[in-house]
Amino acid sequence: MEKMYFDHAATSPIHPEVIEVIYEAMKNHYGNASSIHNFGRDSRRIVDNARMVFAKSIGAKPGEIIITSGGTESDNTAIIETALKRQPDGKHIITSAVEHHAVLKPMEYLEKLGFEVTYLPVNKRGQVDPMMVEEALRPDTILVSIMYANNEVGTVMDIAKIGAIIEESESTAYFHTDAVQAYGTQKIDVKRDHIDLLSISGHKINGPKGIGFLYVHEDIFLPSFMLGGEQEKKHRAGTEDIPAIAGLQKAVEIMQPQREERQVKYVELRMQLIELLTQADVTFEVNGNSDKQLANVVSLWFKGVPAEQLLMSLDLGGIAVSAGSACTAGSIEPSHVLLAMYGEKSPIIAETIRISFGLGTTSEQISYLAEQVIKISSRLKR
Ligand code: PLP
Repeated sequence: MEKMYFDHAATSPIHPEVIEVIYEAMKNHYGNASSIHNFGRDSRRIVDNARMVFAKSIGAKPGEIIITSGGTESDNTAIIETALKRQPDGKHIITSAVEHHAVLKPMEYLEKLGFEVTYLPVNKRGQVDPMMVEEALRPDTILVSIMYANNEVGTVMDIAKIGAIIEESESTAYFHTDAVQAYGTQKIDVKRDHIDLLSISGHKINGPKGIGFLYVHEDIFLPSFMLGGEQEKKHRAGTEDIPAIAGLQKAVEIMQPQREERQVKYVELRMQLIELLTQADVTFEVNGNSDKQLANVVSLWFKGVPAEQLLMSLDLGGIAVSAGSACTAGSIEPSHVLLAMYGEKSPIIAETIRISFGLGTTSEQISYLAEQVIKISSRLKR
């Protein structure tokens, strides 16, 4: 049985060329980048080169990049360090109801410390209305954190508009965006969109896990979240993971020139999947599905079909997809994203699966997936 992976939004396979770079770096470049000898300088060069590539990929300067352990650390640092540093200016923060938990949990933590957080709602397509950001801004707002693209339904937010609204307002709020899911397919430009802080993770773009970066505008100094050595110009303590950094650089170099071509392929695969399902006798709807959408994330509501059962039956046949709900410690937790979009009474919450594709996904795989989904969902329909 051929196994098929349709969960690239959860994590993506490492590109074979990235594996080679990691292996080479592990074998040959083990010096500590802070050491002044030859071995250390060799590692330092790798970090400096990678920083240049990361910066260029989002229209930033190398000095504006802090290398981190990934999306969670980048989000936590951006939010918590901004709040702690800026509390003399105010204690109000704006975010959305559909952020990743790497953003929502720090917000809850800050609320316990006495900060006030406004959670903006989204419409049925999962989008934050930029005008709501404008209305929510207050003289004491110190941070706005709105994700670039949503990981569950693939909605791309109007980041350019939100950035322009904050820039043109009298507010001094920093603008942070979690671009973890968007980086692989969207052309990000932090200067064009007036972004002050931006989070990236390696494992969503066929790079290694446990590595990523945080862009911090050059006029902002964020104290280090990790306390210890003076790495990353005192922004992030801890000995640099040279193989992971070199691997992420390679993943970015592979991704950049292919971005548009991949986007075209994903649009085709998405259309193929939706067409095959439409032709069959299944009742389904595509959640989100706005005109601004990550093509490779398809959130599908199969009416009357329990998502967990569909997911498990597909898994038995070697097909990996994700449910709209997350299983935590044995209990099923409804997705906060779908709840925010449709309300808690909606059957969509328990009947949604997420299909996400990427490196290695073929048209033949999509045909097989559609065939299996149609067969199993007809059997499971209540
Ligand atoms: N933000 C978003 C939107 C994500 O999808 C993820 C990963 O699922 C994260 C943050 C966390 O990133 P990491 O796994 O690198 O910590």
